[in-house]
Amino acid sequence: MDPVYHRLPVVDAGGMELHLPIVDLGSGPPRLCIVAGIHGDEPSPLLLVDRMVLALRERELSAGIRIVAAANIPALLQRARWSSWDDEDMNRIGDGDGGPALTRRLAAAVVAACDGCDVVVNLHNFVMRTPLLAVWPPGQSAGHAERHELLLAALDPHVVWVFGDTPADERIFAGSLDAALERRGCHVLAVEMSDLPEMDEPLLARSVAGLLRVAAQVGCLVDQERAPRRNRVYVHRRLVRAPGAGIFEPIAALGGQVVATDVVGELIPLERPGHRVPILAGDSGWLIQRLARRFVRPGDMIFTVGHPAR
Ligand SMILES: [Zn+2]
Repeated sequence: MDPVYHRLPVVDAGGMELHLPIVDLGSGPPRLCIVAGIHGDEPSPLLLVDRMVLALRERELSAGIRIVAAANIPALLQRARWSSWDDEDMNRIGDGDGGPALTRRLAAAVVAACDGCDVVVNLHNFVMRTPLLAVWPPGQSAGHAERHELLLAALDPHVVWVFGDTPADERIFAGSLDAALERRGCHVLAVEMSDLPEMDEPLLARSVAGLLRVAAQVGCLVDQERAPRRNRVYVHRRLVRAPGAGIFEPIAALGGQVVATDVVGELIPLERPGHRVPILAGDSGWLIQRLARRFVRPGDMIFTVGHPAR
């Protein structure tokens, strides 16, 4: 099934032509939409959808699949989370609310591209090394949660990040792009992965296989893929940030269990080489995300500890 490449025009603002690049596969209106590139400093989703298109070319599709290959081109060209043209986070402005800012117009175009789809997969990556990680959003109805479990069983992520269910958590979620899509009747599955240098072949292969099973679950693929029966861990996530500027040297193994006094890594301070600062886990749980060796600024994300959520 050959992909059809086209573009959705986004209202012209200031003499600049902007569009949303779309890849359509299969015939009929799309039932599954996969969105990449909401954040401009997250290139891994583009690699994953490239593999997905290559895999789907070999398949017989029973319903359409749409891929939004690069949702936020201004931010991607700036390699920044959001574009400096308006400093709006595309994941935090719902459907754009009719606003004139370019990021808002693009968000509205993404929502329009997903219109009528049964399921939307929203792909992101962290700078931290991250296994295939799916989000369990707050405030789900029983029916929604049941459907979400089916989609998770198909995707087979290593980790499910369970959001808190407090009114504050629900308020934050309500302003997201995902929530805007949910209000239009799309079931959204948000998925996180590693940054491009750490997207190794096993992680890519697992991610593509998972997306293909999601497509089968949604009814887009003729042949049903059997989902593996692997354990998924459902966790609340506690984030630890760099205490200062310097080079983070990882020590503890990713995915393993840690206790409060375990040293997850060391900071080689910018101003005091030779005086390494140990960074402790702080409490016990699984080390679910961790930076590789990277230069960090104070406050940069360096690791997360997951606590069982169920
Ligand atoms: Zn993101």
